[in-house]
Amino acid sequence: MAKTNHSPALFPILDQGPSGMARLAAEATHADEGHLIEFKAMRARSLLNHSVSKRMGWVAWSINPYRGCEFACKYCYARYTHEFLRPEPVAAVPPGAYDAPQQSWALAFEREIYLKENAAWLLEQELRRIDPAQEIALGTATDPYQPIERRVGITRSLLEVFARQENLRLGIVTKSRLIERDIDLLRQISHRNHLVVHLTITTTNASLARLLEPRAPRPELRFGAVRKLREAGITAGVLCSPLLYGLNDSVDSIFSVAREAAAVGASFLGGHPLFLKSCSRPTYLGFIREHFPHLLAEYERRFRTEDFADSQYRREMAVRLRSACRKFNLAERSTDALLSRDAGSASAAEAMRTSRPGPQPVRVAPQQTSLFA
Ligand code: SF4
Repeated sequence: MAKTNHSPALFPILDQGPSGMARLAAEATHADEGHLIEFKAMRARSLLNHSVSKRMGWVAWSINPYRGCEFACKYCYARYTHEFLRPEPVAAVPPGAYDAPQQSWALAFEREIYLKENAAWLLEQELRRIDPAQEIALGTATDPYQPIERRVGITRSLLEVFARQENLRLGIVTKSRLIERDIDLLRQISHRNHLVVHLTITTTNASLARLLEPRAPRPELRFGAVRKLREAGITAGVLCSPLLYGLNDSVDSIFSVAREAAAVGASFLGGHPLFLKSCSRPTYLGFIREHFPHLLAEYERRFRTEDFADSQYRREMAVRLRSACRKFNLAERSTDALLSRDAGSASAAEAMRTSRPGPQPVRVAPQQTSLFA
């Protein structure tokens, strides 16, 4: 329980326990459990999260059907979302504090998953109140197709709501082939809305993927999902994100992802460098120390004072991605766009994919928005 310096007699409400998300978390009921993972059902108060970028000039909505993510990617910057579930105040890990231990909530992010059991009902209500021109991103701080989705179907229930809508702009990002299950609904949605699906695939090296993304499906299964989505006429491409210094950022590695993306008919390829948020530092740098100790000093240097990669590195990665897109005839996906913008409709994306325009200015990802996990 957080320490407070108030008088209980004057502020009795403060003694009623945690509030906000922490209270909802405390009220969540045990729903299921998997290998080292506990699932808790929670009644969320709202579903659509409002995101505004004054710098980029956009307004968007994000939806996360779950809190926490079983996939447990070492670089995941969404771990901070579990801070709010705990009543204890948590000190932020400052840039450069790479020796800080992993906080309990950072590990809980992958071990204690909250299921928003009333998500579809909330979505139905909240869609009535938003501007349909604004984008909606599904799966930004959690994977909407993590394994528990197979059993509880919350994401599918959301797609059923979207399938009754029209003229919305919806982007989905996932690492899971489970999305193939919902191709029937995704087709319905794409007929009356603007839908873009992103499969995040950081490497074609299954061993490296297993280390980086321990519980996510193997890369070839994710490429297979892109193929199935494309065969169903859905705009679907590959995000090679994050690009990690010394691990998956070489020309060979990026070209290998691009080659496979082209082979499965991906609508586009995009990617952005690692965003090493303070909540992710202990987990990621601990992982580097354990598995790639020869890279540790360089990571410490690169992220000593910043959470973002420097501008020179961002430019280098943008050039590599652009070269890969050209070589394998893939449409580019700028990472400063939101989930549905600039990818076009399925036919537009296909046109982009099959008719390469002349050289275009490289769009370098600025500091990454918080809409991609
Ligand atoms: S990066 Fe995405 S898939 Fe991986 S743990 Fe985070 S939310 Fe889940």
